[in-house]
Amino acid sequence: MNKKSSNTMALAPNTSNKRETVCIFGTGDFGRALGHKMIQSGYSVVYGSRSTQISNLIPKDAEVLGHAEAAQKAAIIIIAIQRQHYNFLTPLAEVLRGKVLVDISNNLKLKQYPESNAEHLAQLLPGSKVVKAFNTVSAWALQSGTLDASRQVFVCGDDVEAKQMVMNIVRALGLTPVDKGSLLAAQEVENYPLQLFPMWKFPIFLSLGLTAFFFFYCVALDIIYTYIYENNNFSFFIAITIPNRVCPVMALILLALVYLPGIFAAIIQLYRGTKYRRFPDWLDKWMLCRKQLGLIALAFASLHVVFTLVTPMRSFASWRTGKGIISQVLNNKTEPLNHTNAWLSDSYLALGILGFFLFVLLGITSLPSVSNNVNWREFRFVQSKLGYLALILCTAHTLVYGGKWFLSPSAYKWYLPNIYILSLIVPCAVLVLKFVLIFPCIDKPLTQIRQGWERNPKYSK
Ligand code: NAP
Repeated sequence: MNKKSSNTMALAPNTSNKRETVCIFGTGDFGRALGHKMIQSGYSVVYGSRSTQISNLIPKDAEVLGHAEAAQKAAIIIIAIQRQHYNFLTPLAEVLRGKVLVDISNNLKLKQYPESNAEHLAQLLPGSKVVKAFNTVSAWALQSGTLDASRQVFVCGDDVEAKQMVMNIVRALGLTPVDKGSLLAAQEVENYPLQLFPMWKFPIFLSLGLTAFFFFYCVALDIIYTYIYENNNFSFFIAITIPNRVCPVMALILLALVYLPGIFAAIIQLYRGTKYRRFPDWLDKWMLCRKQLGLIALAFASLHVVFTLVTPMRSFASWRTGKGIISQVLNNKTEPLNHTNAWLSDSYLALGILGFFLFVLLGITSLPSVSNNVNWREFRFVQSKLGYLALILCTAHTLVYGGKWFLSPSAYKWYLPNIYILSLIVPCAVLVLKFVLIFPCIDKPLTQIRQGWERNPKYSK
């Protein structure tokens, strides 16, 4: 056989791969999109509809029948109908007895009904096996094939065999089934598409609040103060200078806030002498959004890099350099190279570059595609050890930048510290506390507690 013919064979559709017939109730957006995808994947599709007239929107190879007639043709029936219309199914209870009913419905808001839609369906039709699936996939994604963001399909149901049948369909459509357990999980599965970045709310509000605070702090000290006491109008600082002060400060504080809850958790565990008691709610929530805090910190650090790189292009920077040169010419005096300053500026830049590199590494390892490919120890090594190293480097970057200047009285306009001094409070506190926690006399009992040892065991013999 020549090469060309073997390629043609490989591309030809596999007609022996014909799968079973699946019934879909409802010829709406989702029913049509799912039916189309199922026909592409080798299933025969029969629709159960209120109208048996075939419109040109219905997939070409599908049949459209009345509900009872369509249900008889398949063992699996996908209910692509809104929950409020489920009552029409009760007269069909006999036809649907023993069949697998797939509930794909979503609600418009959280806690709209006391029980989940799938449990409601199971109560209406106790003779059928209800499985919840597909509600996290959108009709648009199914139709356009842009399923990258929503490849996971949560599946739950009380009948194991029925759940397996639905999971097989999910796999055949090129999606990934995630078994969420019994039908009790349906409420959680239904709430999933209604949530709006639940883990991002606290980090975003915190970042917005802190950014606004530091921005106005800088406006007061760098623009208003200079205008009042030095009669200089530096209002253009709003565009680049001030954002380039606020961004590194935010990056450093947010990075420190990623590690602070871990320190609090360690202190609480040491104090209680056990790991078997729940942390306070606020700490639990804080721990859960550490990744988001870290990613926002990385965004601020990246902006700081970009703002710094454009600095030489600014007319203010060339004016200041020119002013220095002219003053040397006018005074007929060449300023010698200050080696201390040269060392400080190079070290400050080197620390910043290394800190940013580790920051990016932390961001990359937090991506699910990367974190799924490293084991738990490797993940902890990067996120904890390299994370602390990034915090140390970034804190040192700020300290070296400030140098002696932080101690000079001119850094305290209106008796207020410069924002770089403020930005060092949380990171330095985290690093000092971490340093204390790794002392063997503290680290040893903490490790024992984390391995299950209890100071006052509740169930002692
Ligand atoms: P839709 O376009 O409004 O279609 C719903 C279908 O239900 C109608 O086309 C109709 O089909 C049938 N229907 C309407 N009223 C009925 C009644 N009184 N009695 C019996 N059948 C009735 O809605 P959809 O967007 O396809 O959504 C269907 C279900 O899928 C909903 O529960 C939704 O939450 C869920 N879902 C949708 C998406 C999405 O992206 N659209 C994503 C995930 C889940 P016939 O005219 O053929 O009878």
